[in-house]
Amino acid sequence: MRYISTRGGMAPAPFSDILLGGLAPDGGLTIPDAYPTLAPGELSGWRGLSYPELAFAILRKFADDLPADDLRALMDKTYTAAIFRSEAITPLTPLADGVWLLGLSNGPTLAFKDIAMQLLGNLFEYTLLKTGGHLNIFGATSGDTGSSAEYAMRGKRNIRVFMLSPHRKMSRFQTAQMFSLQDPNIFNLAVRGVFDDCQDLVKAVSQDADFKARYAIGTVNSINWARVAAQIVYYFKGWLAVTARDDQEVSFAVPSGNFGNICAGYIAKRMGLPIRRLILATNENNVLDEFFRTGVYRVRPTDQVAQTSSPSMDISKASNFERFIFDAAGRDPAVVRELWRQVDARGFFDLSGSAAFHAVRASGFVSGASTHQNRMDTIRRIHQDSGIVIDTHTADGVKVGLEHREDGVPLLCLETALPAKFEESIVEALGRPPERPTGYENIEALPQRFEVMDADVAAMKNYIARHAG
Ligand SMILES: *Cc1c(COP(=O)(O)O)cnc(C)c1O
Repeated sequence: MRYISTRGGMAPAPFSDILLGGLAPDGGLTIPDAYPTLAPGELSGWRGLSYPELAFAILRKFADDLPADDLRALMDKTYTAAIFRSEAITPLTPLADGVWLLGLSNGPTLAFKDIAMQLLGNLFEYTLLKTGGHLNIFGATSGDTGSSAEYAMRGKRNIRVFMLSPHRKMSRFQTAQMFSLQDPNIFNLAVRGVFDDCQDLVKAVSQDADFKARYAIGTVNSINWARVAAQIVYYFKGWLAVTARDDQEVSFAVPSGNFGNICAGYIAKRMGLPIRRLILATNENNVLDEFFRTGVYRVRPTDQVAQTSSPSMDISKASNFERFIFDAAGRDPAVVRELWRQVDARGFFDLSGSAAFHAVRASGFVSGASTHQNRMDTIRRIHQDSGIVIDTHTADGVKVGLEHREDGVPLLCLETALPAKFEESIVEALGRPPERPTGYENIEALPQRFEVMDADVAAMKNYIARHAG
């Protein structure tokens, strides 16, 4: 398999070459030159596999330049009951007749991002040990991603993480989760300012190409291809868990922000997994719901992004969306370049009435959005009916999923975080805090390790220069 860019300006490259990268050199996103498809009988042959075995069977199709034994060892090391708190890795819980919760949030930071990020940590370390290189990961976080990256990279050889967060602006739980890490390769930098100040600092440092090259600065944001690939696995796992026949269709409801999670579901479908509907759910920040209803993709200025009670879905644009549009546009990079030129010039493109939007409609996507009130109502209703407490992001997915449910088609709602991460919202919905998983009871009392800094580019570069690997 070779990887190409959605903008057409990159020489085809194997998996190992694109693994550590963010954007392709031409500003596009990397994508396989053709999706692998399932051989006859292959799916039924996967019915008895454990999670790491299934992950190996799927990922070897995408990472076909890594030695099979090495890849298998990486899967065995990543997907363990010690890290994900059950052999199932992604356990299934019934919510109602024909409706299930697919638990993706049992990794170290209690959100689905751990499933891909934990693998990324091991893949990065493996690759760097082979090439003799090293990497300084530099990023900004308002909570979920940075924490997941730190837990994936802690203690990894040849990798250091410099993570900026807005000083005193994260929840106590999130702050404790990140700052309690004592690993010497993790640097928590609390910036006096807001999240946008942190992001501006990352941008400013990344635009200095010399500095970036000299200190081997990299990122782990959601456009990383390996993260998307790792997420394909649990669509198969969920499908295998609720079906007995190989042609049985299942629908998935996915709480969405940057389109990384549901992009993986779309690729699973393209590979031949019998997925009927991909039900995309947004919160009040409905960039993607608007597109799937109307064909208009309109990014929002950052000051128009609402701060909601499902904060990990508060996005102004969907960074993985270009991969999907590349396919809808018949894989013509000239069309993709033109569409994103329009986004840059006037903030939107409009595919309504086009052949591309016809392809979008045919691809199985439906969508919907929810409000704070919808989330509160959904959390209450699910708790009343099943005794299960879901978090606010998962509630967005369940709400929209149930609206698009069809008789006789199993519906799998992806659980993207545990309620313990969003205690205040659960108290608001249910009048009491959610249970915390074992080991997290007193996380706020642990000693914290972080450095407070000004939002100053020169000071930031100086800090990295002194602490880089
Ligand atoms: C990141 C995140 C999402 C959104 O996922 P995308 O891949 O960006 O669409 C949803 N829920 C939670 C809890 C998240 O952390």
